[in-house]
Amino acid sequence: MSKNYKIHHHSYDVIVVGAGGAGLRATFGMALEGLKTACVTKVFPTRSHTVAAQGGIAGALANMDEDKWQWHFYDTVKGSDWLGDQDAIAYMCREAIPAIIELEHYGMPFSRTEEGKIYQRPFGGMTKEFGEGGQAKRTCAAADRTGHAMLHTLYQQALRHRAEFFIEYFATDLLMGEEGDCRGVMALDLASGELHIFNAQIVVLATGGYGRAWQSCTSAHTCTGDGNGMMLRAGLALQDMEFTQFHPTGIYGSGCLITEGSRGEGGYLTNNEGERFMERYAPSAKDLASRDVVSRSMSIEIREGRGVGSKNDHIHLHLEHLGSDVINQRLPGIAETAKIFSGVDVTKEPIPVIPTVHYNMGGIPTNYHGEVVQLKEGNPDAVVPGLMAIGEAACVSVHGANRLGSNSLLDLVVFGRAAAHRARKIIQPNSKPAPIPQAAIEQALERFARIHHAQGNLSTAEIRDNMQRTMQNHAAVFRTADSLKEGVNKLSDIYQSYERVRVSDKSLNWNSDLVETFELANLLACAQVSITAAENRQESRGAHAHEDYPERDDKQWMKHTLTWLDEQGNVRIDYRPVHDYTGTDEVEYVKPKKRVY
Ligand SMILES: Cc1cc2nc3c(=O)[nH]c(=O)nc-3n(C[C@H](O)[C@H](O)[C@H](O)COP(=O)(O)OP(=O)(O)OC[C@H]3O[C@@H](n4cnc5c(N)ncnc54)[C@H](O)[C@@H]3O)c2cc1C
Repeated sequence: MSKNYKIHHHSYDVIVVGAGGAGLRATFGMALEGLKTACVTKVFPTRSHTVAAQGGIAGALANMDEDKWQWHFYDTVKGSDWLGDQDAIAYMCREAIPAIIELEHYGMPFSRTEEGKIYQRPFGGMTKEFGEGGQAKRTCAAADRTGHAMLHTLYQQALRHRAEFFIEYFATDLLMGEEGDCRGVMALDLASGELHIFNAQIVVLATGGYGRAWQSCTSAHTCTGDGNGMMLRAGLALQDMEFTQFHPTGIYGSGCLITEGSRGEGGYLTNNEGERFMERYAPSAKDLASRDVVSRSMSIEIREGRGVGSKNDHIHLHLEHLGSDVINQRLPGIAETAKIFSGVDVTKEPIPVIPTVHYNMGGIPTNYHGEVVQLKEGNPDAVVPGLMAIGEAACVSVHGANRLGSNSLLDLVVFGRAAAHRARKIIQPNSKPAPIPQAAIEQALERFARIHHAQGNLSTAEIRDNMQRTMQNHAAVFRTADSLKEGVNKLSDIYQSYERVRVSDKSLNWNSDLVETFELANLLACAQVSITAAENRQESRGAHAHEDYPERDDKQWMKHTLTWLDEQGNVRIDYRPVHDYTGTDEVEYVKPKKRVY
C-alpha cells in the first residue's frame, strides 16, 4: 500500500515544525545564525493561533512604574505554585527585557504611553516588591491584538532573512535514529497529496497546544497537540500533562476569549446578587488574582447557585463603567468579539462569561536552551540529540502548575531565540545530517497508509466528540478521585475506538477528513496521558484542583510527572525533580510557601 505514494527527499541543517510565535522566532533566528533552515507548517504562518493572543507580553521594562525582572521572576515562581524550574524562570524573566526591545526594533506596533514608550498594563498575578508592593504594570500590549501584531512582525523578519517555508504541509511523524536521536520528520503536502521526508541535524517542534481535546476552549481548531502526539509515538515522554489552564472569561456558549487585559483595564466580575465576589476570595488582588484562583472562585459561585442567567450557570464581566474612550482605545477587539458572539454592547451591558480551557502547561520536556530532555538511566536531564521543542508544545518548565497571563507570548520569543543560539553552538552549518534509517521511514509510511485506508464504522467526528465531552466533564476546573477514575476508564475505551475509525474520502489532495483523522490521533494521545496524570496526582497545585486532596503536598508531589504511552494506550508514569536552583546569583531561590493573592 505504502509503495504508491509519491515521495520527495530534502536535507537541511534545521527543520522547524510550526510557524506560530515560537516557530517563527526560531526559524529566522536559525537562518540568522547561518544555518540552512526550513519551516514546515500546516496553516499559513500568520493564521497560527498566536495571532489570536490579545492581552500582551510580560517584561519588566518599567515604562509606567517601578519594576524589576527579579519581581517578575518571583511572581512567575509563585504563579507556577512552585512546580516551575527556577533556573528556566530566571532565564526567561531576565531575557524578557532584551527580547521585547528586539521586537520593538523589528517594528512591532505596540501601544504607546504619552512619552512614546511601550504601553504596559496590569495583569493577573503580576506584582511589585516580591508580592508586597501591589499590582505591577508589566504587560506590554498592542491594544487587545498583541498576538496579531507580534506574529506579523515575526513573519516579516522571517521573510527578510529569507527563511524557507513549506506552507500547508502537515507533519505526521518524527523519524528517529537507532540511537534514539532525531533525524528528521515526514510531512504531507496538503495541496498535492505528496509526501516529503525532511532529513535534518535538528528538528524543532513548535506545534502549539492541544486545547481542542476539550469541548469548550479558546484555542483555534488547529490546536491539536500534533508535536506531543509525535513525541509519544516515538516512545518519548511528555511532562506535567495534568495541568490545564482554564481562562476565567471565555464567552458563555462560544468559548471565545475575553482578554484578562479587560480586568487589567478595570473590568470586574459579579454574581447574580450583583456582588463583586472576588473580594471575598482574593482580598488584595481581587479580579486580578491568578487565573486558576479566579476560575475556581467563579465555579464555586455557580455551584452554590449564585450564577447569572436563567440557569444560573455563568458570571457577568462588567466593562460599562470604563467608558467608550478606554474601550475603543484599549479593548476594541473584545468589544467586537462580545458583540458578535454574545450580542452584547460592552459599553452598556455586562458580558456573560465562564471558565474555558485556554492553555496547556504540560508538554515536551526541555531545558532552557530548547533541547528536549528525557529521564535516561537515572539522569533526569538527558538531552535527546537532534530534537528541540519550544512554545506551548514545550514544558521548559517556566509555567509549572499554572501560567501567568502574558508569560506565554514571552516564552515564545525567549525560547525561540534561545533555541537558535543553542543550535549554532551544537551543529556545523551545511554539514550532512546523519541519514534516516530506512526502517523509520517504512514505519511512518505504513502508519500513514493504515490511516489513509481506514475502513472502520466510526467517523472521526464521533470519536472526537466522545473525547471532548469526556475531557470537559472529567478533566474540569475541579476534579475528584471518582470522577477522574471514571474519566480514565471512559477515555481508554474512546482511545481504543480509534481502531474502528473510518476515513471516507480516499483522495489525497486537500483531504480535510484525512488531516482531521491524523489530528484526532494526536488529540487522543494528549487526552489519554493528561487525564491519567491528573488521576495520579493526589494533591492540589496550581490549575490541578483535586477536591479529595485540597492541599498542596510538597513532600510527596513537588516533582514533574513524566508520561509515556504505548500502542495499546497504556500510560506509564515516572518523575523528574523540580530544579531548586536559579542558576544565577542575581536572584535567590524562592522557598515554597502558601500561595495567597
Ligand atoms: C485566544 C487566545 C488568546 C491568548 N492571549 C495571550 C496573551 O495575550 N498573552 C500571552 O502571553 N498568551 C496568550 N495566549 C497563549 C498564547 O497565545 C499561546 O500559548 C501561543 O501563541 C502558542 O504559540 P506557539 O507558537 O507555541 O503555537 P501556535 O501559535 O499555536 O502555532 C502552532 C504552529 O504549529 C503548526 N503545526 C501544528 N501542527 C502541525 C503539523 N502537524 N504539521 C505542521 N505544522 C503544524 C501550525 O501550523 C502553527 O503554525 C492566548 C491564547 C489564546 C488561545
